Amino acid sequence: MPIRLLSPEVASQIAAGEVIERPASVVKELVENALDAGAGHVRVSVEAAGRKRIEVADDGHGIPSNELALAVERHATSKVASAEDLFHIQTLGFRGEALASIGSVSRMTITSRPEGDEIAARIIVDGGHPGRLEQVGAPSGTVVSVENLFFNVPARLKFLKSDSTEHRQIDQLVARYALAYPRIRFHLWLEGRAAFQTSGNGDQREVLSVLYGVDVARQLLEVLAEEGNIRLTGFISPTSITRSTRKDIVFYVNGRPVQDPALSSALVQAYHTLLMVGRFPMAAIFIEMPPDAVDVNVHPTKAEVRFRESSQVFTAVQRSVRRALLTHAPVPGLEAPPGWPSYAQVETPGLWQRSAWESKVGAAPYPQPEVLDSQAAAPLQSIESRPPLLRLVGQIATAYLVAEGPDGLYLIDQHAAHERVLFEKWLRPLESQSGAPVPAQSLLQPVLVELSSSQARLLVDQLPILERVGFKVEPFGSSAYLVRAVPTLLAGVDPAAALRVLLEDFEEDETPLQAEVEARLIARICKRAAVKAGQTLSPEEQRALLRDLEACQSPRTCPHGRPTMIHLSVDVLERQFGRRGPR
Ligand code: ADP
Ligand code: MG
Repeated sequence: MPIRLLSPEVASQIAAGEVIERPASVVKELVENALDAGAGHVRVSVEAAGRKRIEVADDGHGIPSNELALAVERHATSKVASAEDLFHIQTLGFRGEALASIGSVSRMTITSRPEGDEIAARIIVDGGHPGRLEQVGAPSGTVVSVENLFFNVPARLKFLKSDSTEHRQIDQLVARYALAYPRIRFHLWLEGRAAFQTSGNGDQREVLSVLYGVDVARQLLEVLAEEGNIRLTGFISPTSITRSTRKDIVFYVNGRPVQDPALSSALVQAYHTLLMVGRFPMAAIFIEMPPDAVDVNVHPTKAEVRFRESSQVFTAVQRSVRRALLTHAPVPGLEAPPGWPSYAQVETPGLWQRSAWESKVGAAPYPQPEVLDSQAAAPLQSIESRPPLLRLVGQIATAYLVAEGPDGLYLIDQHAAHERVLFEKWLRPLESQSGAPVPAQSLLQPVLVELSSSQARLLVDQLPILERVGFKVEPFGSSAYLVRAVPTLLAGVDPAAALRVLLEDFEEDETPLQAEVEARLIARICKRAAVKAGQTLSPEEQRALLRDLEACQSPRTCPHGRPTMIHLSVDVLERQFGRRGPR
């Protein structure tokens, strides 16, 4: 093909592709515009996960009717005038691209009335084609309504994830702004239901409790530091609250949520040795610095920044977080009450913290936590898929079984082995598709669980699966649920905590296959229910565990992939004892 200029339509779709990737990107741009317009109240509503409609309404200063047609043009902005301005950006927007981009991949209607104007103006942009300006009646402020997103970019539509994933992205995004702007009232409506709302009273901890639940919010530690021209404030989790990913670590630079792997590793570094391997803190850190000390014009989505003095910023983060942890938080393990796990061992938030409701009712003490050995030795030598029949020798360190086979010695991790046994026993009925549900045990007293709004939605989505694996859960008010039955395997475990752990798993899932979700759920349940390291087993129990393990289809690993056994062959023993030279 000869070289030619792209048509404006194609060019604008290409440009839109960088800014508007999914429904949450539309929400981001529109919320930023509302904030830049000085809104006191921002209302976001979403239909069909944003495919059908996304609407953002604000009570900000509005767009003068004679500028409305210009506002939807590419590179039209009221926020910067000269190149010099790019180094002093005080607003969230500055590229003049968002409205043009959104309008080119949807049917976008903007209705806006500046305060003091009698009447509002409206413009519709349909797939990049702006219509004529109309006059309409409307309250002062701006409403942008985006319908049929990506109707003319089918490839993009195909890339969208499940509704619940898109919801989660939107929820997380609005939550981030709500936290950074506690003086502004935010309302998020998903499919006609209020996902969350904040009061706008300026109390960040109150916003945190809307987002993460009262229990977690209360325990978050405050960070405050001033170093040079950098001011740092925010909240971090104590070492007793951890997450399995970094998704709850958020940084803001001058009020703008940013993604910066280096910042987040600086933070995680500050927790070094305080958290178990594979667990991450939660954090919301606000960095304020002179606008000319940071370049925000790095990427069209404005989610990345470049610091002029990056090492200074990282050091400030690390030092202030470490300081907050050491002043507020107990040294791991030292202050745990007898019989309770040390902090470093706590695997999930909330598991060992009784909810307010539970302490009133006086719940029974929960069983000992499992001890996860992060430095589990690798198997010395791979073993055949089917282990030979084993003769029990005994238990050592109340954690391992020692057994003898025809070819040497076997060390068996009792927890991992039991996990495997339970997993196979439980998964088989589900796989057989006989429809037989997993055995459940009704609770004498139902247990109340309070969830964040996004967790509550996940729960509703996943109720059928949870029921198949033995949970019986009912809604109880807006984001509270009653657990009425749990899988029999989990009898004796805190039901609320068990449910939270499972939800956390769902949260990390992108587009889960039903069968995989079930398998993972069951693996989780088995982990909870399996005998722990530190638990003394009678010789009968030890022998039963060996027999059960031998009967498993995949006896060599636990459902999470860790080895259940280590084999020391006679050959290895002989070489180790110097009876035979190395091969
Ligand atoms: P940018 O935010 O980078 O300036 P946008 O395309 O998002 O670019 O918006 C273009 C212009 O439209 C903004 O500069 C602003 O003047 C105006 N505008 C957009 N949304 C609003 C709003 N909600 N309230 C007031 N003005 C708005
Ligand atoms: Mg903008």
